[in-house]
Amino acid sequence: MAEQKRDYYEVLGVSRGASDAELKKAYRHLAKQYHPDLNPGDKSAEARFKEVNEAYEVLSDKEKRARYDQYGHAGVDPNFGAGGPGGGFGGFDMGDIDLGDIFGSFFGGGFGGGQRANPNAPRRGETLRTSVTISFEEAAFGCEKEITVSRSESCGTCHGSGCAAGTTAEVCPDCHGTGSIRIQRGGGAFTFATTAPCTRCQGTGKIIHQPCPDCKGSGSVRKQRKITVSIPAGIDDGQAISLRGQGGAGKNGGPAGDLLISVSVRPSDKFRRDGTAVYLEQPVTFTQAVLGAKLIIPTIDGNVEYTMPEGTQPGTTFRLRGKGIPSINGRGRGDQFVTIRLQVPTSLTSEQREALNAYAAAMGERVEESGIKGFFDKRKKKK
Ligand SMILES: [Zn+2]
Ligand SMILES: [Zn+2]
Repeated sequence: MAEQKRDYYEVLGVSRGASDAELKKAYRHLAKQYHPDLNPGDKSAEARFKEVNEAYEVLSDKEKRARYDQYGHAGVDPNFGAGGPGGGFGGFDMGDIDLGDIFGSFFGGGFGGGQRANPNAPRRGETLRTSVTISFEEAAFGCEKEITVSRSESCGTCHGSGCAAGTTAEVCPDCHGTGSIRIQRGGGAFTFATTAPCTRCQGTGKIIHQPCPDCKGSGSVRKQRKITVSIPAGIDDGQAISLRGQGGAGKNGGPAGDLLISVSVRPSDKFRRDGTAVYLEQPVTFTQAVLGAKLIIPTIDGNVEYTMPEGTQPGTTFRLRGKGIPSINGRGRGDQFVTIRLQVPTSLTSEQREALNAYAAAMGERVEESGIKGFFDKRKKKK
């Protein structure tokens, strides 16, 4: 499975709408924090430093950022999601990212020192996963697909507060809204404190006296949504598309999660594909191979004409430039490779047989008998 890749905005701890100046500021801050010179021998700082640089490289480039916003990592990394046979989707598994380390500090949520995170800190919504199957040609040229997802959305009746109209939640008097309470143990010099979730508010920090009737106080409702997905030209089997903010609703004003769509591509009955290259086997007759011929070759753009030279050997491969799959990054197209296969006739009319015997005679081949039986008999006699 591909290595887990984090969302670039999360890496830099900025919102999706961050300006160039905000990006630069966040990047400078993090690059300084994780710089290898300041963290000698610290492998995790080194990894973070690389991650920060990679994220900034993409997000600081207008074009790359736009592609990333639309397609996620698949939009900026041609190898992304192609990680090994049958797999690839694993690279997008962002479900268990510890948001505390970036979002927590960014939004001012308390963490560290064994303290519980602030229950009212903004939290990102759940990441949803689904899949879609498309044809070989749809993958080559891109397509639009409508998919249906069931996701949690912020309740429209109470705008996510969970409270009935005209009412508000009370700050929990036991934990004063922190969601956790301090318990002191021991005494004198041996006093130590631990924290536990507040039982009165179940760790939410607030008490809803009159819950919203539509969401029963949860602040979110399940909705079936039809979403049109634009699948980029050049996508490969096993790659995934990430739709920003189309996942579950965020909590406490946090951003919505992403919707991850893994793409399966049905094989073609004519073409085989490897990356942006397309492979085709073209059958030709013996006479075409000997005399040369104008062949009609199928490509993903339709038929093209190709002049096969005289004396072409079976197994010869020629290249049709730019007739392959478009690069998912929009950088040109691959080529099509056509391999010549010789088709040998399995039955002949007597007229054809005569003509071939005459040809064999002209070539100086000894063919008293013709056909496969004669051929083997001849070989036996030689022994
Ligand atoms: Zn509600
Ligand atoms: Zn409480």
